[in-house]
Amino acid sequence: MTEVDVVIVGAGFGGLYALHKMRQCGFTAHVYEAGDDVGGTWYWNRYPGCRCDIESIHYSYQFDNDLQQEWVWTERYATQPEILKYIQHVAERFDLRKDITFNARVKAATWQENDARWLVETEAGEKVRAKFCIMATGPLSVPNMPKFKGLENFTGETFHTGLWPQEGLDFTGKRVGVIGTGSSAIQSIPLIAQQASHLTVFQRTANYTIPAANRPLKPGELEAVKAQYPKLRALGKNYPTTIPVDPSGPSALAVSDEDRERVYEEWWKDKGLMFQAAFADLLFVDEANDTVSDFIRNKIHSIVEDPSIAATLAPKNPFGCKRMCVDTDYYKTFNRSNVTLVDVSDAPIDRIVPSGVLVGDTTHDVDAIIFATGYDAMTGAMAKMHIRGRDGLVLRDKWCKAPSSYLGIAVNGFPNLFTINGPGSPSALVNMVTGIEHHVDWISDCLKHLRETGSSTIEAEKPAEDIWVEHSREVGNASLRSACDSWYLGANVPGKPRVFMPYLGGFPAYAEKCATIVRNGYNGFSIS
Ligand code: NAP
Repeated sequence: MTEVDVVIVGAGFGGLYALHKMRQCGFTAHVYEAGDDVGGTWYWNRYPGCRCDIESIHYSYQFDNDLQQEWVWTERYATQPEILKYIQHVAERFDLRKDITFNARVKAATWQENDARWLVETEAGEKVRAKFCIMATGPLSVPNMPKFKGLENFTGETFHTGLWPQEGLDFTGKRVGVIGTGSSAIQSIPLIAQQASHLTVFQRTANYTIPAANRPLKPGELEAVKAQYPKLRALGKNYPTTIPVDPSGPSALAVSDEDRERVYEEWWKDKGLMFQAAFADLLFVDEANDTVSDFIRNKIHSIVEDPSIAATLAPKNPFGCKRMCVDTDYYKTFNRSNVTLVDVSDAPIDRIVPSGVLVGDTTHDVDAIIFATGYDAMTGAMAKMHIRGRDGLVLRDKWCKAPSSYLGIAVNGFPNLFTINGPGSPSALVNMVTGIEHHVDWISDCLKHLRETGSSTIEAEKPAEDIWVEHSREVGNASLRSACDSWYLGANVPGKPRVFMPYLGGFPAYAEKCATIVRNGYNGFSIS
């Protein structure tokens, strides 16, 4: 049986950097990946319009200055194909593929107490033993497929945005239904509407979306960023989201109505996702939040010609409690004569019938259904595997009432197991690539520490984990982000415990906490 120092699950941004870093630190490492190539999220999500809503100059690795100097981004927001090419380039540049087994989905990981090793097994029966295991399985990687009655009798085709066919799809002349109006739907709907003969959108909850204002990068723009890249990256780490954008002021309520409106108009034009930072209190104070929610609702009414469609598209939740979306021509798409919006908030989808989707007593006939229904977020991938820790404890059982973790990096009962972007880490609330690099660097420093001190195991202690969970809960509750059902809370998956999973304290506070723990001799961890 193969034996390595570190086994890594997943070959997306997290797994690839973990592999590179472990090698650099002199550890042997091997990656297992379910897909047939690198890329993670960017390998699986190939739906039309898929691109990152963090600007390309930020959404990339910073661990190697030559890499960030040589790569050429072409647009303000990179498309999925461009990001995938970038990840493939990284894999080639650092010769990573030779230590990755593809088409290998990990089904189990078992802690072997007697010799302090993880035994990791793939679905195909391959086994590997390792001193350490890093779960780089992605917080949004397990598609959520609602169990609609009658789906098995549908005579058309079905797709999930997160499992899009590699060869792409052509909807020309077809009647398409899209279920869901989150980020994936909002990016794909305008393009599918241009191709399909008819598009029916089934909306359960209206979402806030801001124009991406995407554009090709101007001549000299990327070069100017590259000239100060290290400075820019360092600056970003002082910001809660790691994106260096300052609010126009501390409170939306401290300025006149005219000034507030002017700020929103300016930020609406080209700030994209960072629109949420227009004033520092938008996500914390109800009245401040009302001002921005009203502004966007008014925008929707000004763009969408039919007032009743505009009213359906206008969100009722507080702004930002579901993750904000960024779009190109989303609201405008509902002015097209081949697009129908079906409100399924009060009368949910009853069932799928052979010819389409039944809502109330109306059947919406379609040739294809696209499930843009999101993910079993943050815990889904790890809960799917049989991860058995100390004394036979299974991770999915430990998490069945509430996911718990120390820093979103380590879990009590699971020695020598590390999670990247686990529950309790900032994860999707910061630039994910920056968050990943921070986690991998922390883990590699930890492994070096164990090596230097002749230690063989490290495990998060229960009291430290409990305190972190409680602290994360308090921070989460202080924000309006926890004010409605969302994947942040696990509320999108029936039966999943409701806990605000990402850490909301912001990157600087989180990174400082991680560093302090190290300075204090890894307090909250037991090392033996
Ligand atoms: P999502 O935000 O969870 O949206 C899923 C959608 O499906 C929601 O509108 C949801 O309605 C709907 N839905 C689920 N079950 C349903 C049911 N039984 N009946 C009717 N509607 C149902 O998923 P997503 O759009 O894939 O995005 C997930 C996350 O991935 C994003 O928040 C973001 O973090 C990331 N992402 C980022 C980008 C980007 O960078 N641009 C793009 C895509 C995704 P409810 O709201 O009522 O539950």
